[in-house]
Amino acid sequence: NREWHLLSRPVGWPKPEDFALVDAEAPTPGEGQVLVRNKYLSVDPYMRGRMSAAKSYVAPFELGKVMQGGAVGEVVASNAEGLAVGDHVLHFFGWREYAAVDAKNAVKVDPGTAPLSTYLGVLGMTGLTAYAGLLRTAAFKEGDSVFVSGAAGAVGSQVGQIAKLKGASRVIGSAGSDEKVKLLLEEYGFDAAFNYKNGPVSEQLRAAAPDGIDVYFDNVGGDHLEAAISSLNRGGRIAVCGMISVYNNTEPAPGPKNLARLIQTRGRIEGFLVGDHYDLQPQFVEEVGAWVRSGELKYRETVVEGIENNLEAFFGVLRGDNVGKMIVAL
Ligand code: NDP
Repeated sequence: NREWHLLSRPVGWPKPEDFALVDAEAPTPGEGQVLVRNKYLSVDPYMRGRMSAAKSYVAPFELGKVMQGGAVGEVVASNAEGLAVGDHVLHFFGWREYAAVDAKNAVKVDPGTAPLSTYLGVLGMTGLTAYAGLLRTAAFKEGDSVFVSGAAGAVGSQVGQIAKLKGASRVIGSAGSDEKVKLLLEEYGFDAAFNYKNGPVSEQLRAAAPDGIDVYFDNVGGDHLEAAISSLNRGGRIAVCGMISVYNNTEPAPGPKNLARLIQTRGRIEGFLVGDHYDLQPQFVEEVGAWVRSGELKYRETVVEGIENNLEAFFGVLRGDNVGKMIVAL
């Protein structure tokens, strides 16, 4: 049973030396537990936060211990009622090959309904993040013009498509390569898109949204947030989902210089955490599940093979190697 440990807390960009792939004994499931052989592991930007000691909404990863994360696997031994060998479960003990999981912390998933990896992405945590952040936090309504950053990623690609499906007047996305921009326009149906590396975000956004924006879904922070505030229309809403451009900073990033515009626009900026919105899960699964099945909502996954490449896959998310959800397949 190989598992990834955090050895030292990264300063700035994480380095391979901060981690180790360790050969550990396979866990024995206790009473009420199942032994799960993991098949798909999630790597997510928020994990960078858990590598630091700073107080946050989840405890930091412990040094010298196995890290955690979303995972889907097959039950190979069961000491729990309701879960049998051969069942598949979603749980939170990723970064390892085998996990002993309390049945109450495992959610049974059906590989017959949807591919197992989608329970980590389009039908899982990142999907609900897009759904809740757009519909609840940003209070999206038909006719809104919506801008989303990180638009070719797991959350962002779903935000843009949900906005389109729910009647946005215009959807604009930004991403870090010309190929990703092409994908937004040609596959996901965005009305406009730009590569933020090709020029100042504020200018590119103004050109892409000459009539301004009503909603900004922020995955990135920094220049993107400042540009969105400058393009915000009266009554505009900004949902702060993530700020990946600052996760590896060693100094606090400067704030947007144009916050006074929120007074003129009566604009609102609000952060949210997906964990507070699981009451929307049934509605999300029904509505988004139907769009995925009908092909109206498209999704991509970038799949990296092997537990030994789990760390590189995580680095890849920070670098932007992924299109759609980054998944590690075991
Ligand atoms: P993604 O699939 O979007 O992967 C991250 C992407 O971020 C990369 O592919 C890369 O794409 C982009 N990126 C990296 N560095 C920068 C940079 N400096 N500037 C702009 N873009 C950058 O990840 P997720 O969809 O899982 O997460 C998206 C955001 O949502 C993250 O900020 C994450 O922390 C946040 N999040 C928040 C949740 C919440 O509850 N609030 C829950 C889940 C996610 P590119 O090539 O375009 O640069």
